[in-house]
Amino acid sequence: MAEQFVTLHCTPCPSCRFDAGQRIADGRLRWEESQYCPAYGVEACGGGWGPGPEWVRARIAAREGTVRLAVGGADGVPLRAVREVYGLSLPQLREARARGLDATPVEAELLRGGGPRAAGGG
Ligand SMILES: [Zn+2]
Repeated sequence: MAEQFVTLHCTPCPSCRFDAGQRIADGRLRWEESQYCPAYGVEACGGGWGPGPEWVRARIAAREGTVRLAVGGADGVPLRAVREVYGLSLPQLREARARGLDATPVEAELLRGGGPRAAGGG
């Protein structure tokens, strides 16, 4: 779930600047976004756990590119990790296994490391 800390003017205006990114926190994927508007003098940030909304991933992909990952098998990232990170349904997971997956660099790092660590794990 997204966490919003500041209420913005409802409709982004031409002066609005957006930024978005992902990072690994506590062994899990986290996304963050920020908005700054010099016209209205507002700043806001939000974020949540997981890969984030599609526009966040699109922005990261445009800036940093994506990494094609094999899913499953000896050379692929673990299916369990893919499912945990993206919350895929089984048909989506089968498709990812068949076609591979376009991950952001941070997602790829997490998936190659075996996926999210279990909460409170040791
Ligand atoms: Zn604005």
